[in-house]
Amino acid sequence: MAYDPNNIFAKILRGDAPCFKVYEDDMTLSFMDVMPQAEGHTLVIPKFPAENLFDLDPEYAGAMAKTVQRIAPAVKKAFNVPGILVAQLNGAEAGQTVFHIHTHIIPRRNGIDLKLHARGMADFKELESQAEKIRALIE
Ligand code: AMP
Repeated sequence: MAYDPNNIFAKILRGDAPCFKVYEDDMTLSFMDVMPQAEGHTLVIPKFPAENLFDLDPEYAGAMAKTVQRIAPAVKKAFNVPGILVAQLNGAEAGQTVFHIHTHIIPRRNGIDLKLHARGMADFKELESQAEKIRALIE
């Protein structure tokens, strides 16, 4: 499948769709997942038009990993959780629903199950305050 420049994350990168921004640098952008599987569910995307890991420029794969490594500790602190799930889905069969590569950063704690994937919109005010909380803890 060819990369679709009208996918929602491409629109976010172009500024044609909004996001609750957590972090941005030359090669990556991080923002809140609007249908979180847990409170604090954050995404990191590269500024490169790739559907998945197999068509991503290695420089951008490295940049995405570097940003995940920087944002995940801030998410962990912000939501005071003992664990963080880092996940990246490649292909519809693997559960991918948005075809611009992204990495999920999902807070985990005992006794709280993950919510269903890509369902149930979160409250936008809450997402904004969560993004602010994470931003303040990025080192
Ligand atoms: P995946 O299924 O791995 O492709 O993940 C796509 C993720 O993007 C899901 O967790 C969705 O909840 C999330 N998502 C979809 N649309 C948006 C959006 N406009 N802003 C932020 N997250 C989104």
